[in-house]
Amino acid sequence: VTTAVSGRDGRAVSLRGLRKSFGSVVAVAGVDLDVADGEFFAMLGPSGSGKTTVLRMIAGFESPTAGAVELGGRDVTRLAPFERDVNTVFQDYALFPHMSVLENVEYGLRVKRVPKAERRARAMEALASVRLDGFEKRRPAQLSGGQRQRVALARALVNRPRVLLLDEPLGALDLKLREEMQVELKAIQREVGITFVFVTHDQEEALTMSDRVAVFNAGAIEQVGTPAEIYERPATAFVAGFVGTSNLISGTTARAVLGKEGTFSVRPEKLRVVLDDADVAGSDEHSAEGTVSEVVYAGPATRFVVDLDTGTRLIALQQNQEVSSMDVMGLRGRRVRLVWQRRHEFAITS
Ligand code: ATP
Repeated sequence: VTTAVSGRDGRAVSLRGLRKSFGSVVAVAGVDLDVADGEFFAMLGPSGSGKTTVLRMIAGFESPTAGAVELGGRDVTRLAPFERDVNTVFQDYALFPHMSVLENVEYGLRVKRVPKAERRARAMEALASVRLDGFEKRRPAQLSGGQRQRVALARALVNRPRVLLLDEPLGALDLKLREEMQVELKAIQREVGITFVFVTHDQEEALTMSDRVAVFNAGAIEQVGTPAEIYERPATAFVAGFVGTSNLISGTTARAVLGKEGTFSVRPEKLRVVLDDADVAGSDEHSAEGTVSEVVYAGPATRFVVDLDTGTRLIALQQNQEVSSMDVMGLRGRRVRLVWQRRHEFAITS
């Protein structure tokens, strides 16, 4: 017990200079990352950006070309998957179709020769934690997609791993169920207190569920931060564009607005659309003039596409409660001023 406790340094997962090549393809190009105990952590990025390969190296299914994987401060780079204190929930759930829900969840403990009474108790506890009590006798085929997902989760949680790895955990579910499970998965993680590391290409999923997000691009991490930091202070042009609408203001516009060269970003919902003969910007605000080229009514909000005089195109999103007094559709072709608070501008590198 003492050694196990002394191994706990608050870092569930540490990646040190992690690289992976498949022949001439560099899948992971040098990743350094620390995930804290108890975190719900997302690896977000487009297809082919290397996030699944990183997950598989944490699990032990791939061995790195260079670098190290530590779990709880212990170097596990050369250990087999079963020797690591991690479990993986695969996207297709990989449930045994001929076994009941209970047998599926007990399976790992059976392999480890855990006595029957303890096995049963732990499986029931795991099923309760994913709110599937009463479903023990069903077969996977008799469950909904969301319920199958929770069986797969229970089957991993029953081992009480230090870290649970999830590969596109909600990818097989339809939109409505996915939104419900986003909330559910977060609640389950909070209750069990286990570190969750999951891979997704869905920015909304990453922002909704995670304590922190690492944004991957071309085998490397572009930015690590809380969902609010990633969204409101994107560090690079790639992050600004991959998470939300980039709204990059650069070159001549930056000089016109800021009096200097460079690139910055302002999110669409931070821009206020005003008719240019009204509402002059305050001292803590910046503004730019342009012409409305599109107005798209989208229920609770209206989306304006505005072409600035400098050639930059920006998107502004206004809640309809704020714009109801205007004849918004009639603004197409009109001159407007976009106004935003200076604190909502963020400098962008590269
Ligand atoms: P996706 O969301 O599509 O799963 P990803 O971000 O998880 O993408 P990876 O699956 O990690 O990306 O792949 C990263 C790169 O490595 C890709 O170019 C991919 O084609 C390549 N790659 C992954 N696995 C292998 C393999 N076993 N052999 C050869 N190339 C591979």
